[in-house]
Amino acid sequence: MIHHSGVQGPAAIVLGGVHGNEPGGWLAADELVNWQPAAGTLLVLPRANVTALNAFVRTFEEIGDLNRLYPGDADSPLMMERMAHAILETAREFGVELLLDMHESWAFYAEYPPNSGTGALGQTITAGVGPMQAHFGERLAEKVNPALTPREQLIVRDGTRFSRPATTPSAGQPGRGRSSLSAGGHVAGLTPVLVEMGQADQPLERRVELHLLTARAALELVGVL
Ligand SMILES: [Zn+2]
Repeated sequence: MIHHSGVQGPAAIVLGGVHGNEPGGWLAADELVNWQPAAGTLLVLPRANVTALNAFVRTFEEIGDLNRLYPGDADSPLMMERMAHAILETAREFGVELLLDMHESWAFYAEYPPNSGTGALGQTITAGVGPMQAHFGERLAEKVNPALTPREQLIVRDGTRFSRPATTPSAGQPGRGRSSLSAGGHVAGLTPVLVEMGQADQPLERRVELHLLTARAALELVGVL
């Protein structure tokens, strides 16, 4: 879904449904499809992995994990690797400055020690490689957190370790350097931002609201709303 404001300005792309078992992200993205940009262009891919959504699983091996397959490959046998390629092509075409990727994690980051290896990322913001990496996460958290309860507070993670790998890995070797946080390494002017809401003891309706609050604030920061 592409909305042009008719006013010259920045472009942003929002991804939902990269993982099919993270409904807070894709239900929020379904709403975002109806938002009209005040300036520039808003692109929304609300249900990036429809096959996984329909089965309510993260993804399937046969189609791949979109968040491990950037920069993608138009000729890959994996549907999600072709999708990654198409997303970055679209981002280049529109001069996208912000790629907002909406996810969920079971546990809350603040409730698990960062080194426990659990991958608990609930209530976090991470900005990947790109021109806005240094400050965007902090600015976004400062804008959203005053309206949130103590447990809902968004924590900014350091995204610098997710930068584009020195050499482009070949297809079939997914890894950390191939998440959406590496996308800015492949598209000039783009900064990717990953937002994760926690599922544990946090109702789905609230997770959707929190994603929408965060998305609105992020799009306001770049001037699309
Ligand atoms: Zn996810």
